[in-house]
Amino acid sequence: MLKEKILKLLNAQVEKEFYSSNLYLAMASWAESEGLEGTSQWLYIQADEEKMHMLKFLKYINERGNRGIVPAIKQPPVKYKDIFTLFDEVLKHENMITDSINNIVGECIKEKDFSTYAWVQFFVNEQIEEEKSVRIVIDKLKLLGKDKNNLYQFDKDVLSLRQTAGNTTAGQN
Ligand code: MG
Repeated sequence: MLKEKILKLLNAQVEKEFYSSNLYLAMASWAESEGLEGTSQWLYIQADEEKMHMLKFLKYINERGNRGIVPAIKQPPVKYKDIFTLFDEVLKHENMITDSINNIVGECIKEKDFSTYAWVQFFVNEQIEEEKSVRIVIDKLKLLGKDKNNLYQFDKDVLSLRQTAGNTTAGQN
């Protein structure tokens, strides 16, 4: 069984990962409706990955003899100013998730929950990858500037940037 404090944090993380999934789904829908096909694919894939993260937390809680809680769905923003602000929002969100994971790690040490401490290391590494993968996109956007023709090319190439991010590391999930 998990200690009350750790259980609370893990269930809160279920909610955060679920919201991440919904946020990226909303962004994907916005991008698709704006004709940004490649960008929407990048975001749909990201949304699926976040759902997997949510499930990992939920199942871990249950494996430890507690109960994972499926939260209510909070509505993410419907509109985004442009693709630049959208990806800045993605990075900001992932930074927040990283802080949240680090907080769990810290509490595991305080509570001497070394099983959860070991288990959550996957997410410590995952967050390095998540932030890197978004930074690669933002760097490319900066290179392209705000020229509409460049945006067309960016949208065609953005999915291959996912590959670039994944190629340098093992154990992407
Ligand atoms: Mg995640």
